[in-house]
Amino acid sequence: MITWLQGTIVENKRWTPELFTISIKTEPLAFKAGQFILVGVKNGDDVLYRPYSLVNPPDGSLLQVHFNTVKDGTLSPLLTDLSPGDSIQVSNRPTGLLTLEEVPDVSNLWLFATGTGVGPFISILMTAEPWQRFKKVVLCYAVKTLDDMAYIKELNKIKSKYEEQFCFIPFITRENVAGTINSRLTTYLESGELEKKAQLILSAKSSHTMLCGNADMINEVTQLLEQKGLRRHSRSKPGQIAMEKYY
Ligand SMILES: Cc1cc2nc3c(=O)[nH]c(=O)nc-3n(C[C@H](O)[C@H](O)[C@H](O)COP(=O)(O)OP(=O)(O)OC[C@H]3O[C@@H](n4cnc5c(N)ncnc54)[C@H](O)[C@@H]3O)c2cc1C
Repeated sequence: MITWLQGTIVENKRWTPELFTISIKTEPLAFKAGQFILVGVKNGDDVLYRPYSLVNPPDGSLLQVHFNTVKDGTLSPLLTDLSPGDSIQVSNRPTGLLTLEEVPDVSNLWLFATGTGVGPFISILMTAEPWQRFKKVVLCYAVKTLDDMAYIKELNKIKSKYEEQFCFIPFITRENVAGTINSRLTTYLESGELEKKAQLILSAKSSHTMLCGNADMINEVTQLLEQKGLRRHSRSKPGQIAMEKYY
């Protein structure tokens, strides 16, 4: 049974007409960067709910969820309409294995995100741990348009703090934008351009990868990584590919 915490919307930030981040005030909730919670809206005696990753770092004062409005979706259009002061339900048990606790000691961490899948990585990158543990952290973040590239300010801030360690590679597929790559992430990975850009070899020996976002990207990237000798990671069978599919 789900135990719900009562939350209040503090902000509903609109990045584009279909891309939002809600900030939620609740009683303190302990979680690990990269985990997700269930978020719900009351519907009579029921609660309509879905899983959402937390974007804020664990020491943040508000819970933050980054989402897009799915046309004809059940919950996301309701989240889109929330305003400051509105009520929201949050499960009291954050969960998920897309956390650094699950990552063995390796030299380099590669993060692959599409769209709102960047959320758990923002949370992880805002903690001290990746910078204490890995020589290099590479974030490949793919969106369709420049406006869809949420959290760019935060990522640039992290870049200026960890200039040498952090390699941020933004992909914008439907627009040509200076400083970004106008190609599919998978094409870039397959051709070897990604490793050239990162100036780093992506190998099973030196790397762990985390993938988050839509299933197409995750399936294609997984296939390409498997061709390089990386294997899916689970607690019982350690490998180098961890993932969270949103849909
Ligand atoms: C572990 C986990 C964490 C998640 N974290 C996030 C998150 O941080 N942010 C986020 O936006 N979503 C996240 N999702 C997806 C989210 O839970 C919902 O599925 C999504 O918001 C759609 O819900 P809905 O009720 O509006 O649509 P539904 O009525 O559930 O679904 C309608 C249709 O939309 C498709 N769909 C679902 N998500 C998307 C999407 N993002 N874009 C296009 N089509 C979609 C579904 O496959 C389905 O066919 C996560 C999913 C999982 C499993």
